[in-house]
This record gives sequence, structure tokens and C-alpha cells, in this order.
Amino acid sequence: MDNIYSTAKVHPEPNISWSLEPELTDIMATSRSYKRLLYVWEAWHNASGVPLRDYYPRFVELSNNASQADGFDDTGADWRSWYESTTFEKDIEDLYRTIEPLYQNLHAFVRRKLYNQYGPKYINLKGPIPAHLLGNMWAQTWNNIYDMMIPFPDKPNLDVTDEMGYNATHMFYVAEDFFTSLNLEKMPDEFWSGSMLVKPEGREVVCHASAWDFYNRNDFRIKQCTAVTMEQLFTVHHEMGHIQYYLQYKDQPVGFRRGANPGFHEAIGDVLSLSVSTPKHLHAIKLLETVTSDPEIDTNYLLKMALEKIAFLPFGYLIDQWRWGVFSGNTPPERYNAEWWYLRTKYQGICPPTGRTEEHLDAGAKYHIPGNTPYIRYFVSFILQFQLHEKLCMAANQTGDLHTCDIYGSAEAGAILKKILQTGSSKPWPVVLQDAIGTDKMDATSLMKYFEPIIKWLEKQNVNETLGWPDFNWVPPIPEGYPEDIGKTVCPTMILQARSLQSLTVVL
Ligand SMILES: [Zn+2]
Repeated sequence: MDNIYSTAKVHPEPNISWSLEPELTDIMATSRSYKRLLYVWEAWHNASGVPLRDYYPRFVELSNNASQADGFDDTGADWRSWYESTTFEKDIEDLYRTIEPLYQNLHAFVRRKLYNQYGPKYINLKGPIPAHLLGNMWAQTWNNIYDMMIPFPDKPNLDVTDEMGYNATHMFYVAEDFFTSLNLEKMPDEFWSGSMLVKPEGREVVCHASAWDFYNRNDFRIKQCTAVTMEQLFTVHHEMGHIQYYLQYKDQPVGFRRGANPGFHEAIGDVLSLSVSTPKHLHAIKLLETVTSDPEIDTNYLLKMALEKIAFLPFGYLIDQWRWGVFSGNTPPERYNAEWWYLRTKYQGICPPTGRTEEHLDAGAKYHIPGNTPYIRYFVSFILQFQLHEKLCMAANQTGDLHTCDIYGSAEAGAILKKILQTGSSKPWPVVLQDAIGTDKMDATSLMKYFEPIIKWLEKQNVNETLGWPDFNWVPPIPEGYPEDIGKTVCPTMILQARSLQSLTVVL
């Protein structure tokens, strides 16, 4: 399954071949053509998801057998056990309900901007948003359409991609420098000699960025097809956060060389990125020319962060909801795709832009399904990273608003992180959290505090908008002439006949 995903290609012409990274990702991020985006979205979902359909049900069976042999009801229960809580599912649902109003405000604002761009034919102001218009193949983060959303466009551009005269390796040096400024570890020589930091020529690789512990206490590597963009600069910090964790707990017994829970592991690099992305820090590393304290720049900045962090929360929650249902058998193979789109609409407020059927397996178009990487860890991380950020900012004596804090150079903040990292999984995570930040609960208060100014601003913009998507089952029309006139000849096998089959009905 992993191989299907990592070698899937889209052929806009018989002799042209596009991979997910870089071509398809790049088009999703930068194109503003409804049809071109639709073509790329549909072709990728078909190329990667459809072949998986033959394998996934059997995989689920085998995986459940293994988990049952370990005494769990199914693989979902196995995965949830890592969070050491009998109320885990309810805790997560409660957290989601807390932040849902933030998401709905962001969604309504973005939907209005897309309406201005694409018009009433394709955007229903009371409905879900077509899934291919949000700048990302899975609509999981929306920062790539920030340029269409900028509250105060005359202010300096906070997407500094164009200012980054970097190569891939330099991006990793920039990240390493932040870690060492906190008095944390340098990357060892083996990291620099063994990692794959750019996409190699002439062979297929799994491009999805990942970080690896070889469990021999000196070999730690990252594999990433790094593109020189601001978004990927944060991915570099994210992956290096994993390596820093490996380095810090390397002297624990093997069984404890894990995060306090998997969400901790995902949070570390992101915590640093919350500082790196501030206008103040971008200015310090010469990616932003001028920076003045200005509420309009703050609003721009917080909107950009919301497009990255708030937009992700429902996605981070629904992937494993879908998989828990699949593993438990509540979602049988003949309902895999219907349930997927039910959850995508219910939580994200997005809809499929073309007819989808049970011949498709659209969940399989996302790496973590064929790669079988559990996903709720990212949701946990997106809550936890703000809790950690707030505590580290206090330690670093950053007394201003939370979204302006930059912990660069603070050994005090580094010491708190170091303690968490060195503990690995040798203590239950609530104990680790209590020791580090003085609470043993995951809690959205810090996240709400961080985004408070932008939520107020969005509420003002949204006074005449419908929050949510009461037209739940609405789907956009197929554009006339699509796909024949997208400007390229489309290799006919890539567009399944399935488009003419009956669409899925999504039932609330
Ligand atoms: Zn990660």
C-alpha cells in the first residue's frame, strides 16, 4: 500500500508525469483555476486511492488479528491505549467542541473570499466548500490561500517564501540553530551524512517527510523531499523536533524511547515554529525587511496562523474517527467512502468536487492511511503545542501577547523542554505534563488565548454570514467541458468512468 502511494503519478499528457511532490502539491498551492485544481485533485485521488481499495479491507482484518492477539478488541482500541485514559474519545470530542466556534468563524470567512473568487455557481454561502479550493490536496491546512485572504494587503507579506534564498540544507541549519539557542542538542554528524534532504534523481522514494531513530544511540535521520518554501521551513522544524526527542531520550531503556504520548512527539518542532513564524523572528533572521508593532500586521499574522492551525483541527480529529470505525467494523468496506465524506462534511465543512463512489477510496489518497500512521496524535499535538508555548514564553520572560512571543535564545525555556524530552515515555504523560507546565490535562485555553484577537476580528467580518453549512448535502456542478478543456490533453485512463456513475449520497 505504501508503494502504491509513493509511486502514484498523474499523467496530464501521455508523456508527462506529475508526482505528488513537487508538482501536484505545487499546483494545489498556487493555481487559482477551478478546473485545473479539480483535475489535479481528482486525478490524484483516483491514482492513489482507487488501487488501494483492493488491499485495505484485508489489511484491516490482518491488523485486527494482530491487535486481538495482544488483547485488544481491535486496532483502534490498541492505538487509543497509548493515551492511557479510559475517557480518551470523550476528552477529544469535548476539546473539539470547545474550538468548533473558532473553526466555523474561519470557515465562513474563507468561504466568502472563495465566493468572491469563484462565484455563486461553485460556492454556496450556506454549504460546504468544494474540497479542492483550499490550497492543499486534503484541505488540511489553508495557509497557501492566504494571499486571497489578507486582511490588510498593503502591509509586508508574511509568507516569506520569495525571500528565502536558501537551499534545502540551509533550512536544516536554520532549524538546528534554534534548537541550540535553547541549549538543546546539535544534530550529530551521522544525521548530516545519512539523511535524505532533497528528492533524488533516477529512483522512486517515499517523499512524505519523516524522522527516524535507528535505536543505536548515534544514527538519527530525516527523509524529506525539501522544497524551499516557508511552509516546508516549518516542516523542517517539525521533523527536527522528532530528532531532538530521539537525541534527548537515547539513554533511556529502549522501551521508554518514545514520546510521553504520541502527541508530545508531534508537538516539539511545532512549538519552535510558533516562535520562528512571528514577524519579529522573521525579521531577526532577515526574511522580513521591516517590522513595526502594528495591530494590522498582527491581524494579518494571526489570520495566517489560523489558516494553518485552526483549519487543521477538524481534519486532525476525523482521520482516526474514520479509522476507528473501520477497525471496529462499524464502518464496513461497502461504506468506506460514504463514511469518509460524511465525516469530511460534518467536521471540515467541505464536499467532494466531483462524484465519488465506493469504487474510490479517498481516505487512501492521504499518506497516513496506506502508510498506516495513526493520526489523532496531530490533533493532540495542535492543542498541546499551545499549552507548551505559553509556559515556555513565561519562562523566557516574554510578557507581551502570546502570538508575539519568540523563545529564541532562552535557556530557561529550553530547560523545560529538555526535561520533557529526556523523560521519554518512562512516566505517564499526565505526570510529565504536570511536572513541565503544572497541569495534567490537555486543554484548549492557551490556543483560545493565542487566537483571541483574530476570533474577535473574524466575528466582526462574519456578522452577515451563515456559520456552519446547513446545506449539508450540497455539491458543486462539474464545470462545462471538464476535463477536456483544462488546457492539456488528459490521459483518458486517469479519469475514471466512475464520474458518470451515481454519486455518493451523504446522509447526516
Ligand atoms: Zn511528525
